[in-house]
Amino acid sequence: MTDSEKPYIPYSRQWIDEEDIGEVAAVLRSEWLTTGPQVKEFEEAVARFVGARHAVAVSNGTAALHAAVYALGIGPGDEVIAPPMTFVATANAVVFQGGLPVFADVEPDTLLLDPARVEAKIGPRTRAIIAVDYAGQPCDYEALRAIAGRHGLDLVADACHALGAQYQGTKAGALADLTTFSFHPAKHLATGEGGMVTTDNPEFAEKMRRFRNHGISTDLRQRLEKGTWHYEMVDLGYNYRLTDMQCALGLSQLRKLPAWLARRQAIARRYGELLQNLPQVSLLAVRANRVHAYHLYVILLNLEDLKAGRDEIFLAMREERIGVNVHYQPVHLHPYYRRRFQTGPGDCPVAEKAFQRILTLPMFPAMSDHDVDRVATSLAKVIRRCSRGGG
Ligand SMILES: *Cc1c(COP(=O)(O)O)cnc(C)c1O
Repeated sequence: MTDSEKPYIPYSRQWIDEEDIGEVAAVLRSEWLTTGPQVKEFEEAVARFVGARHAVAVSNGTAALHAAVYALGIGPGDEVIAPPMTFVATANAVVFQGGLPVFADVEPDTLLLDPARVEAKIGPRTRAIIAVDYAGQPCDYEALRAIAGRHGLDLVADACHALGAQYQGTKAGALADLTTFSFHPAKHLATGEGGMVTTDNPEFAEKMRRFRNHGISTDLRQRLEKGTWHYEMVDLGYNYRLTDMQCALGLSQLRKLPAWLARRQAIARRYGELLQNLPQVSLLAVRANRVHAYHLYVILLNLEDLKAGRDEIFLAMREERIGVNVHYQPVHLHPYYRRRFQTGPGDCPVAEKAFQRILTLPMFPAMSDHDVDRVATSLAKVIRRCSRGGG
């Protein structure tokens, strides 16, 4: 086979089987297409899986972040500390509610929010911290909880990368006051679009259930059961509901999650073995006492050993039909943030330097060992060609 004939390996891909299709079809034949029994069942299953008291299903991970920020009552004038090495939605959720995102830099070896940098950014208007479990590794929640406690702040975990991850034996979803998940097809389990917030706090849960339904205090099913038409809108909310069709798919996918997590970890081990002897590549550090959920497999290029930059290596890998990607351009460097909040280069030098070096390799449970080997072989070939002193 020539390179152009080799199958393309994407950076991520959902895994849907006949069982999933059957579960969705059954909902299509049922009474409820949205906000019916599947929603509650999916919420309860996710809450049980992560070890949280409550789970609130919403239409996507961004809505989950918005609902979490809303539950905390963040508003104009409030500051929320977040890392720049994340998807824009993390910070956008703060902006949706009129708050001000304040970016605290990451640790150079894990690219996780650095607790020391968080503490340095706390001021009189700081209300909350949003930690991001980048790539699927939980942040240092012991340190973050201690800081939040000392300063009277709320702690949100954006665990959209980290369903199934653990910190000191506790799962992501039970490590912060509120935790958000995404069920976008690129993530650990797919509902098409979908999201969830988990919390132990019943008031937060109730507020978020209202928020996802226009700020109305009861849903249609509850009114039907009570035989009443009457409802009241008690606060401004949105239509952020997740459908029964999607929740049925999520429930079916969730049953496979433990096996998928094990497969992701096996792929990561194989990458680690195959890449350890490439001096031009560094692997991200994984801290003790953490179970990594490996949504992403991110490497750091040692640019001083290379005569090409990340973008050239990215293109060369794409020519090899390997779906490498970049996660992420730091949020504070996006034009909107620069314009609206006067952020820019120099604000978070560790994230900015890492951004020049990061490359995401394919990682999804349906990848075969042969696929992993092909990615590693292609990377070694491209890197050899781009090495200083090399051919
Ligand atoms: C995917 C993701 C989101 C947003 O989730 P959507 O379901 O796409 O809205 C938020 N934060 C992080 C870190 C993500 O990876």
